[in-house]
Amino acid sequence: MSTEIYLDGNATTAVLPAAIDAALHAMGEGFGNPSSSHGAGLKAKALMDDARACARRLLGVGEGRLIFNSGATEGIQTAVLSALCAIRARRAAGQRVGSLLVYGATEHKAVPEALAHWNHLLGLDLLLYALPVDASGRHDLDALRALAPEAALVCTMAANNETGVISDLDGIGAALADSSALWMVDCVQGLGKLALNLQATRIDYAPFSGHKLFAPKGIGMLYVRADAPFTPLIMGGGQETGLRSGTENMAGIAALGAVLHALEEGKTFRSNAELSGFRERLAASLRRALPGIVFNAAFEHALPTTLNFSVPGLAARELLDVFDAAAVRVSSGSACSAAKAAPSYVLQAMGLPDWRSSSAIRMSFGATTDSATIDDACARIERCGAALRSAGLLPDAKIPPAADGVVQLSYAGCHSWLVLDADSREAAVIDAQPELQARIDALLHSGGYTLRASLRTDAAVAAAPVRLGARLLQPCRVADATIYLLGRAAAAQTTLAPAAVRHAFTGQAALAPLADLLGADSLICPASEAQSAFCTSLRAEARAGQSAADDVNLDAAGLAAFLQTNPNVLLVDVREAYEHAASAGGPGGRAALNIPLSRLAQQIETWQHNPSQPLVFFCRSGNRSAKAVHCLRRLGHSQCWHLAGGMAMAAAAPILALAA
Ligand code: PLP
Repeated sequence: MSTEIYLDGNATTAVLPAAIDAALHAMGEGFGNPSSSHGAGLKAKALMDDARACARRLLGVGEGRLIFNSGATEGIQTAVLSALCAIRARRAAGQRVGSLLVYGATEHKAVPEALAHWNHLLGLDLLLYALPVDASGRHDLDALRALAPEAALVCTMAANNETGVISDLDGIGAALADSSALWMVDCVQGLGKLALNLQATRIDYAPFSGHKLFAPKGIGMLYVRADAPFTPLIMGGGQETGLRSGTENMAGIAALGAVLHALEEGKTFRSNAELSGFRERLAASLRRALPGIVFNAAFEHALPTTLNFSVPGLAARELLDVFDAAAVRVSSGSACSAAKAAPSYVLQAMGLPDWRSSSAIRMSFGATTDSATIDDACARIERCGAALRSAGLLPDAKIPPAADGVVQLSYAGCHSWLVLDADSREAAVIDAQPELQARIDALLHSGGYTLRASLRTDAAVAAAPVRLGARLLQPCRVADATIYLLGRAAAAQTTLAPAAVRHAFTGQAALAPLADLLGADSLICPASEAQSAFCTSLRAEARAGQSAADDVNLDAAGLAAFLQTNPNVLLVDVREAYEHAASAGGPGGRAALNIPLSRLAQQIETWQHNPSQPLVFFCRSGNRSAKAVHCLRRLGHSQCWHLAGGMAMAAAAPILALAA
């Protein structure tokens, strides 16, 4: 099993070994409360003072305050609350204050959400204004200059979490030179990556988060300029000189302190030049692997550790899945669910076309990454490209995939069905959804299929029968519904006997009236997941609920034991062909048969004839394999199980590798 390569450093980072040691010490021997006046407390306080002093030096805070807190989201709340309370006080004192709360259009959501929340809660009724960015992702400074006289608070970020684009903080500072606006800079992605000397700027507030720089989650810092207004978010025992009450997170502070010392010593983290070299190597492999790739932020304005890209014709989900199969952990540049990718508001704000903002991938690595890991990542990226190419998903794919039979495609819980006849290269589609059209076109194109008919189960009248090679697709009207029966039929035949129906595309039709048209084991392929996650049969429906629900889940250790006692088990990878090709085998590196979930309705026929064959399904996370196992169990195949938690959990269980 190949080890995981973690390229999602902008989401979070692994904790530095020295930071783990420091945290362990703070939780063990050094467990004291820094507020206690006895020896244990004094030692804890010394540790905290040392971490803070190091942070002050590194960030150049001068006379400013540096508060430990739980992370950037808290720091952002504190900064926004402080600024808004000051604005309210100035207003109450009759001083002129601007009416705008300006924030960069590409800010992390924590910023506009905090602005809206506290603006509402304090009843200030100020106007939130999203400051546009240009095509390179940098703030529009002309717009800022124009807004500056009316701005009460300005929030910008040091570097963007999705694109790595570095803000022109000097330019922003200059645009605000004559403005009375308070200024917050979200420095989360800048910590340890950009040289900061906060005292030399007019920045009032700067939040930081430890877990973006090799410290654990739940520890952060907030810089507050010496004369910037401050209102505590949390009141209590007066810790942090009354600025942030609550007993300090000493394990977190100790760990963050260790990271900051490592930064200061300059031995642990790679230089920008080295990191830029790594980025070039990754980009070269990506270009070779994924023809047509576009990088969504110019490298010269971005952190060397972040690459954001889109590939024409490939959805973010497909790229995420293929990288995950190769154990390369990246993230989508946008909020992405299995069926639908919401476009990234960051890329939209940069004016990128929808296809790029909804299919973007972010690859971000840490400054501790070594050259061998980058080599390995490059090799795996190229393996992913080859896997996508062999599945016909890249424009320069040379080998059209051989596909035959029934394919299910799903979008938002609704199913479209494709019938492919490999011998004649003819195809038909039933209930094509507009969102799946590009996918359907690509499948037909890569396989060299001609589309003979696009049929709908909500049609008011039945179309003529469609012949696809030796297959017949026979439309029928049943009780106000249109359904399509599929089976093999002689050339002159225009109807199918019930026993000859292998698949029935039944749309939303009720099943009872179909009894005269279908065999008991004909596979019923409905139009929505609400009816059946996959497919069913009249026999399965009649039997449903009669037998006790067996446990179909195997965990990684359970699977290892199961494989030892059942050597004839067939391991079935229900991931897509490109994921299968990109992965280094199944659980424990074992060979597996690849039947993508979308092809299950075709494969079930074979398994129906061999009900004693034990099957174990697996996929990435256990979702797809759960669907497969439930579908087969319902159809009466009692000898099937699945790997709960998927390959993600199997990788965490070394026992599997031993059993393989
Ligand atoms: N700001 C930026 C730019 C971020 O990347 C993040 C985390 O993703 C945050 C703020 C919020 O940080 P946290 O969740 O650690 O509080």
